[in-house]
Amino acid sequence: MAGEPLVLVVEDEPAQREVLAYNIQAEGYQVISAQAGDEALVLVRETPPDVIVLDWMLPNVSGIEVCRQLKMSTETARIPVIMLSARSEEVDKIRGLETGADDYITKPYSVAELLARLRTQLRRVRPATVGERLEYDDILMDLAEHRVYRQGERLNLGPTEFRLLTAFMERPGRVWSREQLLDRVWGRDIYVDSRTVDVHVGRLRKALKAGDHGDPIRTVRGSGYALG
Ligand code: CA
Repeated sequence: MAGEPLVLVVEDEPAQREVLAYNIQAEGYQVISAQAGDEALVLVRETPPDVIVLDWMLPNVSGIEVCRQLKMSTETARIPVIMLSARSEEVDKIRGLETGADDYITKPYSVAELLARLRTQLRRVRPATVGERLEYDDILMDLAEHRVYRQGERLNLGPTEFRLLTAFMERPGRVWSREQLLDRVWGRDIYVDSRTVDVHVGRLRKALKAGDHGDPIRTVRGSGYALG
């Protein structure tokens, strides 16, 4: 398999489906979507995705039934399924996992959380596309160990700066608007002022420049920030 990871979104509510597709695409993945369970089952066979984001509540064939059928078939059993549900009771969570779902997210969830779970599943099935290490120029990030090095020297980053740098390092050269960084690093439903982004980018720059290194982050006037 080559190219960007392919994510199948199964959700019957158009607004939610669009938000999911938009955010997953913004992350750099390809997205296909289905609005019903039977449609999803056909699509998976035609165009096998790398990961499936599956809503529990679907008309006709429920998300649980879709998951059960996928996990029963040897052709599709290995595709990770992340179940979305408005149900928060523990018993439902257990039922969801018993059907073979690989992960389970309760609505309302933050986009940042969903994307983190997606990356976790992709790391399992396509480690080359979501590596444990990110490298750009003389900067090396070890995602598993949560460490950052510049010219071999370890840097101290706070958790927010670490997530910011991860976003930059995953897409060098990409210009991120403040809103996109807010969605990606803080999550869409958390209220954070866009000036907070500037503050944390400032801290990240300071940490990266420690020890007389150049500034790898570029301010793009009127747009946002980019690495390199
Ligand atoms: Ca639904």
